[in-house]
Amino acid sequence: MLPTGSHDSAPELDELIFIATTDIAARTKGRSMRLADFRDDTSLGWVPANLGIGSLGHIVDDIPYGSTGDLRLKPDPSSRTRIDGIPGRPPLTIVFADLVDTDGSAWESCPRTFLREAVDQLRDEFGITTRCSFEHEFMDVSAQGDHHPFSLQAFRNAEPLGSTLMSVLHRAGLEPETWLPEYGRHQYEITVAPTDAVAAADRAILVRDIVYDIFTAHGREASFAPVVAPGETGNGVHVHFGLDDADGRTLVFDAERPGRLSELAGSFAAGIVRHGPAMAALFAPLATSYLRLAPHNWSTARAFLGLQNREALLRICPTNEIDGRDPSGQLHFEFRGSDIGANPWILLGMILRAGMQGLREGLATPEIVEGELDLDGRDAGLARLPRDLEEALDTLKRDEIVSGWFSPAFLATYEAIKRDEFASVQARSLAEQCEVYTRVY
Ligand code: GLU
Ligand code: MG
Repeated sequence: MLPTGSHDSAPELDELIFIATTDIAARTKGRSMRLADFRDDTSLGWVPANLGIGSLGHIVDDIPYGSTGDLRLKPDPSSRTRIDGIPGRPPLTIVFADLVDTDGSAWESCPRTFLREAVDQLRDEFGITTRCSFEHEFMDVSAQGDHHPFSLQAFRNAEPLGSTLMSVLHRAGLEPETWLPEYGRHQYEITVAPTDAVAAADRAILVRDIVYDIFTAHGREASFAPVVAPGETGNGVHVHFGLDDADGRTLVFDAERPGRLSELAGSFAAGIVRHGPAMAALFAPLATSYLRLAPHNWSTARAFLGLQNREALLRICPTNEIDGRDPSGQLHFEFRGSDIGANPWILLGMILRAGMQGLREGLATPEIVEGELDLDGRDAGLARLPRDLEEALDTLKRDEIVSGWFSPAFLATYEAIKRDEFASVQARSLAEQCEVYTRVY
């Protein structure tokens, strides 16, 4: 008599659900369980001191969170996503969680709550909603040989990974838009459709982890590090966003004003430009972020608003008016300073909070830089971004508005992590610094 079960097929695996948060170092972390055991009210334990784990993977000393205390990972069911179709990997459901105290109240240092509260404020205080999307650049650091920018051959060299990525994202409901070979050596870019702010940041996290998973599954290595080796093209994380009223009508467009920006959008932009230097510690949080944030890199070294200018911290994006298409609903901003070290919830939460500060103070539209940047002449006076991580941390501390957005314990933890990271990385050569972050990100 034949034994039950087949010998030639793999045993059926129980599908797992990963209950995830993304930490101060923008790494996705969490705990898993059998999907079949997961209930709508399930929550899992978490440890406050985990916040003290920086990019280099250890808990630093002298942070406010110690060996005591407990939190819960409280899943947000609307974020539930099933990832399927990665060769050699079983399907996985991921759900993002807010970090709450054991009585269910929001934890003071939860990065996802930081964004959600900003979204609520934007709606309740200003009647504004926003749709956003994150654009990611990364490098296939395992690829050999030439890479011609934007070429079909570079695109084909990444197959079947590119097609796999687009299919997995699509099936997971993450609405991929474009997949392209970029300018840098073995550099690629993946974009997804805009959605509401929290879901957009959740998407950003999933995109990175799906890219890693696909590359690893194919024995290749992807890195989103801001600069993978000295002299190489940078990898940016660009955040696109618009501002709408409660009915989804644009609040950005005004054909009569400079840059076609409404007064409201101008104030919003002014808040971001003004607080840009102080936010750098969190949007460009790695020692090597500042190799990328330099002139002529199509990233940015100055905090300014630019019309279709890729060196602007905040860019007014072009509109497609082919065949008489209406530009009004299309006009939106792109925040270009950020990189992979930034936690997407915190990054977007800061952009919205800075914009709201501009609205509260009724700031005037900042100067809109048109044409090429002229740092030796016309544009010499534009505010500088910090030149390194240490200066960025000092600038953050001096800006009471930006530092006031965070709990004192979060700020103290962040500073301790980043000063420790800067000291340990700075002792190495630039090539080694790039190498360290390339392995982490
Ligand atoms: N690679 C550039 C960056 O570091 C951006 C290039 C682009 O405009 O796509 O942000
Ligand atoms: Mg790009």
